[in-house]
Order: sequence, then structure tokens, then C-alpha cells
Amino acid sequence: MEDQKTKKEILPLIPLRGLSVFPYMVLHFDVGREKSINALEEAMVNDQLIFLTTQKEAETDLPTAEDFYEVGTIAKIKQMLKLPGDAIRVLVEGISRARIIELVQEEPFFKAEIEEEVVDEELEIDKELEALMRTVLDAFENYVGISNRISPEILMSVTAIEEPGRLADVISSHMLLKIEQKQEILEAFQPKDRLEVLYRLLLREIEILEIEKEINAKVKKQINKVQKEYYLKEQLKVIQEELGDHGSIDDEMENYRDRIKKAKLPKKVEEKVIKEVDRLSRLSPGSAESGVIRTYVDWILDLPWNKQTKDRLDINNAKEILDEDHYGLKKVKERIIEYLAIRQLAKEMKGPIICLVGPPGVGKTSIAKSIARSLNRNFVRMSLGGVRDEAEIRGHRRTYIGAIPGRIISAIKEAGSKNPVFLFDEIDKLTSDFRGDPAAALLETLDPEQNKDFTDHYLEVPFDLSKVMFITTANSLGTIPRPLLDRMEVIDVSGYTEEEKLMIAQKYLLPKQIKEHAMKPENLQISEQVIRDVINYYTRESGVRNLERQLATICRKAVRRMLEEKTKVVRIQPGNLKNYLGIPRFRYDKAQERDEVGIATGLAWTAVGGDTLSIEVTTMKGNGKLVLTGQLGDVMKESARAGISYIRSKMEELKLQEDFYQTLDIHIHIPEGAIPKDGPSAGITMATAVISALTNMPIHREVAMTGEITLRGRVLPVGGIKEKVLAANRAGIKKILLPVQNQKDVEEIPENVRKKLELVFVEHMDQVLAHALVRKEEINED
Ligand code: ADP
Repeated sequence: MEDQKTKKEILPLIPLRGLSVFPYMVLHFDVGREKSINALEEAMVNDQLIFLTTQKEAETDLPTAEDFYEVGTIAKIKQMLKLPGDAIRVLVEGISRARIIELVQEEPFFKAEIEEEVVDEELEIDKELEALMRTVLDAFENYVGISNRISPEILMSVTAIEEPGRLADVISSHMLLKIEQKQEILEAFQPKDRLEVLYRLLLREIEILEIEKEINAKVKKQINKVQKEYYLKEQLKVIQEELGDHGSIDDEMENYRDRIKKAKLPKKVEEKVIKEVDRLSRLSPGSAESGVIRTYVDWILDLPWNKQTKDRLDINNAKEILDEDHYGLKKVKERIIEYLAIRQLAKEMKGPIICLVGPPGVGKTSIAKSIARSLNRNFVRMSLGGVRDEAEIRGHRRTYIGAIPGRIISAIKEAGSKNPVFLFDEIDKLTSDFRGDPAAALLETLDPEQNKDFTDHYLEVPFDLSKVMFITTANSLGTIPRPLLDRMEVIDVSGYTEEEKLMIAQKYLLPKQIKEHAMKPENLQISEQVIRDVINYYTRESGVRNLERQLATICRKAVRRMLEEKTKVVRIQPGNLKNYLGIPRFRYDKAQERDEVGIATGLAWTAVGGDTLSIEVTTMKGNGKLVLTGQLGDVMKESARAGISYIRSKMEELKLQEDFYQTLDIHIHIPEGAIPKDGPSAGITMATAVISALTNMPIHREVAMTGEITLRGRVLPVGGIKEKVLAANRAGIKKILLPVQNQKDVEEIPENVRKKLELVFVEHMDQVLAHALVRKEEINED
């Protein structure tokens, strides 16, 4: 027949799952995939026309051109409704069938050039066509009669249709057919062909329905409530046997039941999934609900309910592995070995949880990995940084659209065993808000009394976490919720000295990077001084993370040079380091050039390690105001006031002008340093700077100090001694004033650093001043 005309156009395309759309059909469906949503948006800004084609397999998530049929339907979007989550419900009306000529675009959505069938209204209905129409109508009437799924009104409206093609389309849209069968009808562009295909399918359906009826009659007698489900399944089976075809749904269910059997699930869980699979078998495969159930069952079956790795509990072996992976960290390794030893004896995983505390890049994560390796367990990691919603930990209930399990269950799936080493990173970064308290959920997770039955909102059935070995890390202990902290055994992993960094770089980081860049050790010659320069001028950190990064950059550039210049050996010297890493990033915060009045060097401890802290004080005519500016926290301000009070009580001894606090303003400023510092440990430093400013006596430039001050001038102990001393050493300080009560912390300081410095322990401000201030006679000597 030549009276069919065609028209070409380009339209956005959406592949549908388990759903076919016919011309004249009005229906709605939900769109969730990003590509499809993009296509919808494109259609909306144009003429609301969209090309709908069906996926060959409903399960394919990211279909490509091969995965959907060429023939589909152009539809007009009538309405869109945003659903909770990102999904959109659209109401469309089928306009006309069309065939893809060429896919012109795949991203960010499919776009196809299509050839549209233009209906010729004038199509002459010859006798043959008329006869065919009547036959089809009769068959449909018969079908409606038996199936009792279709209301008689539909039959009436269908009878009124005069166009043969439309008749076929409308009838098809009312029938319960498989996707392939619907597609067959859709692909019949000629009305006559279409009616013939439809007629064949109608006859087949009628036959099935009749058989179904027979079975009905046979089985009906014995039906009672319990048997109903069984009966339905039997019915399906008989139909399928009769057809000689085993539908893919059946295969899918079989596959699920098989997997359930093999998974050896805990009883409760097994009962639950079986129930879900049964429900699934009763739903239409393309429906949204069946998708939700499928995802759920897959999650359950993917979890390691019963998979467990066998522990290797051998302390000597653990020691070897820890040494193999990490330089130094003597104390940390010892603590871990002790911890493992107790585990070995007790077998049970009860007791406190290790919390590795220290600045970034000191190897906390990598220690946890080594523990997993030594125990022969799998390793997973979950960062708690910024987690503020309980649902992130415990998941969303399944009633939420797009719900998935929480991050803990997801991590367990990733681990693939029920007894991994599980690292909670940055436990100090946990926050809480109106969406519930994640700390409480975490507490339950970590509690051996409770985590045997850990509940995830999505899973609905408890998962046993009691075999998991949890390890946590934090940058500092300050912000960890108290009840969590009580559960943990804190192990400090403090920063490294230059010497330690050098060893780590030479023994671990560099060999690792060389290997990762596919080089051999002899290809790259880096002198020790180069590594020292990288440590000092290109990084400023307590750990070695940036150092590792910089070494990686060097390796990358070295490989390039090897290839470009066809050489076998690349030599890097202090002189040419700039060519690899650019100009040095950090200048040393060196000690002052001269002894100055009103400038004292303090020592601070922050989350990234120690740092020197220069405190400046000036006085000016005024009325006794105390002005504080720069990087000061509240505690620091308090301690500045305590310092001033002390000074006022000592006016006579210090030979200060009696009325200084009425006639002078004192301005304390802490310049530089992007990291806000707080804490009382700058107390003596501030007091010293103020006294220097008031008395006009300079402060020794090579002296640094740390300590809290009381109103009476006593010096109290402070924390972070090791980091502070390391920072002072780096800055070229020669003498450090420390509180007497911190004497015990000195053993943490590496021997070689201790030898270079003069550590003076002070009890009182008088001693501080004696060491810090430059006496008049000293100045004269200068
Ligand atoms: P953190 O978890 O403390 O932030 P990482 O474990 O990520 O630090 O460590 C950063 C990098 O430094 C890793 O590649 C790690 O192997 C390496 N590293 C840290 N400390 C050591 C050490 N003592 N010996 C060898 N390598 C180390």
C-alpha cells in the first residue's frame, strides 16, 4: 500500500522499562533515571513531544542503543508531577508510531532522528480490510467475555472506531500482553498487517484464557485460604507448560529462590526474603513496586550474613607486618600488639575500641589497614566527617522513594565478610542536628552488647556486627562525644620529626611511589638533602601526606623526562628541585632577626601539629584599655587578662609606672597563621610580651615558651609538648621554657632533637622573665 506517508524529525528519547505505549493511549509512568529526566526537560522546552521506546530487558539500568527497540511511539507530555526524591510522574498521550533512523545523541540524554508514520485519514477501506476488522472485533469481544478483566464499556467504545489502524492500537493497549508481543503490534506500520498480528495474538490469548478457566474449574473445589497462593502459582505453571515457554519472570524467581537457599541466611532473614520474593512473583515485572522489592532482595542476598574470614592470631606475625608497613611509631605498635594479645587470649571481641588520635597523614589509616592485614581480615573504611543525619548511619525506611541501607551496612557489603576490620574515620567530625543524633546510632553500633542485632531501617532485619573489629580515628579528642570517648582506648599517633620523615620517605614513601610510577629504583637518584628540602620548604605538616604527594609529583615528572630525553637515570639535586616542584611554598618561620621589645615567641598546638606563635604587644597613651586582635580564641583572651592582673600585682618589683593601667592602653596581637589557636598555653608568653613592652626590656629572640599562668604568676602544665618542641626546633629556637610539671613528657621528644635544644623547666613567672628578658648589661655587650 502506497498511501502511507512518512515524516522525519529529531526528538528526545526515553527508553521505558516493562511498558509499551501505543498511539491514542493515555497513561502515566514514573521517570527516575537522570538521562530520562534530561530528555523530559528538553521536551518541555520544545513542543512537549517525546519519543518513547521500550527496553528489551526491564532490568538494564543504563541502556545503550542496542538495548531498546527501534520502533516506538511519539507521545505528547500532558502533565508532570514531581515525586518525593528526584523522580517525576508524567502523563502522556501516544500520538503516532515511528522508527529510529539514527541515534544522533547519547548524552546528556538520547536524541534520535525518527521517521514518523503519518496516518492517512482518507484510507479507503476495502472489503478485505473490513472483514479483518470485524473478525478482530469478534475475537476481542470473545476475549473480553472470558477474561473478565476488561469492562464492557471499553468494548462499546472500541466498536465505534472506524479507522482500522486505530482499532488495532486501542485494542492492543487494553490487552495484557508481553512486551515482545506488544512490540510486534507496534512494529506493524500498515493497518492491515497490524490487524493480522493482533488477531493472531487474540486467538492465542483466548486459548490461554480457556485453559486457565479449565484449571480454575478443576482446582476451585479445593481452594481455601492457605492454598490460594499455591494455586495461583500452579496456575501460572500450567499456563506456561501449556505454552511450552518458561517466562523470564519464572526464571527470575527460580534464580532468587536458588540464591536464598545457597546464602544460608539466618532464619528470620530467610523467612523475610522468601516472603518478599513471593510478593514479587505476584507483581507485574515492570511495576515500580517490583523494582523496589528486587533492589531489597538483592541487598539482602549480597550481604555477607555468613561469610567470615579466618583470623590469624599470631602476635609475632602481626609485629612483622606492622614493622613492614611503618617506620618508627614504637609506642603505637607496642600498644597495638598488646591489644591484639589480649584479643588472642580472650577470643571474644569485647572490650574497648581502639581510637587512633593524631594529625592528618601520620599513618592512622594505614595502621588500621596493617592490623587488618595481620589478622587476615578484610578492611573497610567509612568517613564520619560531616555525618549529621542518623539515616546516613542507619538507612532510610523502604517507604522512602529511592531508599537504600545506611553507610554501615553498605560498608559491610563492600567488605564481603561479616568480620572485617572497620575503620570509622574522623569520629571527631561527627555533628548532630534536627535529623537525629548520629552519635547515638554510632554508640549502638560500637557497643558489643547491642551490635549483635544492629538494625538498619532499610533492611528491617537485624545484622550481626559483633564479629566486626572496629577502629576509629580522630584528629583531636576535644569534640568526641563523651559517651563515645568512654568506649574507646585512645592511642596517640603524634607527628614526626624531620629525621623521622626523612627515614619514612627513604624507606617507604619513595620506593612505593617509584613502583607506582613503573620505575626501577636505579632510575631515580634523589639525594638526602633533596628530601630534606622537600620536607622543609614544600610541606608543612605533622604527618607525611603532602610529602608523599610531592614525591609522587617528582616521580611523575621524572618519568616524563626519562621518556622525553631517552635517559635511564634522572638525578635530582637541591639545585634542580625547583624544576620539579616549582618555587618553595614555605618559608621558615625563623626566629626573629633581633631581640625585640614586646615580641615573644610562644608555642601552640593545633590539629595539624605544633607551631610557633609570635605575640606582639604595644602600649600607647590611653585609659587602661586591653585590646586583643589577631588569631585569638576566648580562652586565650581570658588568659591575657589573667596575665595583666598578675602584672598589676607585681608593679613594684617590675619597676612599672604605678598608674600604667590608667594611662596606657595595651594592645596584644597575634599575627599570621591561618589556623585559629586557642587554649591557655600562651599565658606566660602574653605576660612576658606585655612586661617587655611596659619595661622596654627586649626579649631574647632564640627563646620560646609555653605554659598557663595563674593570677599569682605560677606556671601550670600544658599539652602537646612533643609537637611544640618539634616546631620550635624547626623554627631555629635554642632555648625553650616549659612548665615543671611537663617534665615527664620530655621522654617523648626524640633524642637528636632534645640534644640540640636547651629545655628549661619553670615554676613561676619570675623564672620565665629571668630567662626571657634581655638585661640592660647584656644589651651593652652587644
Ligand atoms: P592518616 O590516616 O593519619 O591521615 P594515612 O594513613 O593516610 O594517614 O597516611 C598517609 C600516608 O603516609 C600513607 O601512604 C602511609 O602509608 C604513609 N605513612 C604514614 N606514617 C608512616 C610510617 N610511620 N611509615 C611509613 N609510612 C607512613
